[in-house]
Amino acid sequence: MSADSTNATTGRVFFVGAGPGDPGLLTLKGAEILAGADLVLYDRLAANCQPKEPGNAVWECVEQLPGCHPDRIGAIVRRMIAAVNAGQRVVRLKGGDPMVFGRSAEEWQPLLEAGIRFAVVPGVTSALAAAAGGLVTLTDRRSSSAVAFVTGHENPDKPGSMIDWEMLARFPGTLVFYMGVARLGHVVERLSWHGKPLETPVAVIANASFPEESRLESTLGAVVEETRIRGIGAPAITIVGEVARDSAKRAVQAGRALAGRVVLTTRPVGQEQPLVSILAGRGAMAFNLPVIGIGPAPDLAALDAAIDGARGQDWIVFFSANGVRSWFDRLDARGLDARVFMGARIAAIGKETARHLKARGIRADLIPDSERSEGLEAVLADQVRGKRVLLVRADAGREHLEKALRGLATVATVAAYAQQDGNVTATPGGERLVSGRYDALLATSGRAFLGVLRHLDEAGKASLRLGQAKIIALGGVTAEAIREAGYPVARIASGANPEAMADAVEKALLMA
Ligand code: SAH
Repeated sequence: MSADSTNATTGRVFFVGAGPGDPGLLTLKGAEILAGADLVLYDRLAANCQPKEPGNAVWECVEQLPGCHPDRIGAIVRRMIAAVNAGQRVVRLKGGDPMVFGRSAEEWQPLLEAGIRFAVVPGVTSALAAAAGGLVTLTDRRSSSAVAFVTGHENPDKPGSMIDWEMLARFPGTLVFYMGVARLGHVVERLSWHGKPLETPVAVIANASFPEESRLESTLGAVVEETRIRGIGAPAITIVGEVARDSAKRAVQAGRALAGRVVLTTRPVGQEQPLVSILAGRGAMAFNLPVIGIGPAPDLAALDAAIDGARGQDWIVFFSANGVRSWFDRLDARGLDARVFMGARIAAIGKETARHLKARGIRADLIPDSERSEGLEAVLADQVRGKRVLLVRADAGREHLEKALRGLATVATVAAYAQQDGNVTATPGGERLVSGRYDALLATSGRAFLGVLRHLDEAGKASLRLGQAKIIALGGVTAEAIREAGYPVARIASGANPEAMADAVEKALLMA
């Protein structure tokens, strides 16, 4: 077969709808076609559909092609035609559905003219994901038997505007606007100018289907100010009409108890999951502030010596999941494994640390009920009398247990990792922290809380001190450190597992 005839049979283009962002909302057919692609030209908002296992396809973000939206279409088309001529299967992966505000026709018209075969695979358009996430039905037997999808990107003032605002203001049904919140002011102004009542219910859903999805229930009159205060950004869908009434109340009733609340957490970088997703699953807009960074052991030789001496210990106590991680990573790096423990017994400060040990094949012999070093002290004291004990912890940590045990046993400590100051101001959570735009702060250690305080101005501190933003502490030791610093603790999370932490946040906010 000549190269030309091969090209004629294999080269073709598929316009595939990626859905609103959650890769789970890509259709099975879309996924199958992606798996067989040679080249995927994707929109930035569709990037999530990229498989974890890189296949054969080359993935190119169209935003890297020359030109700016919308002038970039020429470059996209040229790239598609060149790839098809080289015999490639090309996927043009578009956010949401390709047929809804996707400018697909402009991209396929040149293909038609060049006689190139193409097909379209639909996707979940973002309006539908927003409706689902915001618990807003787009139609309602009593109030809305029609839906209009409207682009808000068009400049409402431009002469010859395609949008008939007067007609839209009178539209007997639900209006769904596709646009960034920056354009919300124009939409409100146009609709109200043409008589749409300011008390008309409005729901704004940003980042629909992403973990950071956020939503707001408001009215036409208040929505611009409220999105600004809440810091709701793009991409967003705005739903205007009776159907948006009471959506926030419904969300709480349906188990999304944190709907509309902004929660900041203080996990180190890379350890915010699954906590952030669980909070988001309950409706919160959750941001992590990595105020503490985790660094390597400050003295590797000391850690190695502790590892080599492990078999001589009677008890080895792990103070945190990070300690477990660093210890075992070091074993790996040295070609060792859990056999270094020999007959030593293992204690974990709490269930979460024990879970990490278990993942490394070690069942902890002792886990106190209360997750604080005093709890461990009480249960350990009897066991260790006259024995050798190694405490595996951070460089700076609770000296409490060490002091308590020193009189009873031969105690050694090793710093398995270092705690460093993390940089939070550049993160979205950091911006909210500084400006006080949040409802709850979950402090996972006393040190993390002090790290947060360093970033606050007087207004930010006052909001915490007065309990306008609630503080939730992980464990009693953290709570004491926070109170010592002069701040009220609204709730103590009893365990380091993410569900328990989310429960504590929920209780602190719902009791308010
Ligand atoms: N073809 C796309 C729409 C492209 S226009 C679709 O069917 O969804 C881009 C607009 O879509 C954005 O300005 C925003 O209003 C909306 N949008 C896209 N993804 C979104 C998401 N995950 N959440 C909320 N709105 C989204």
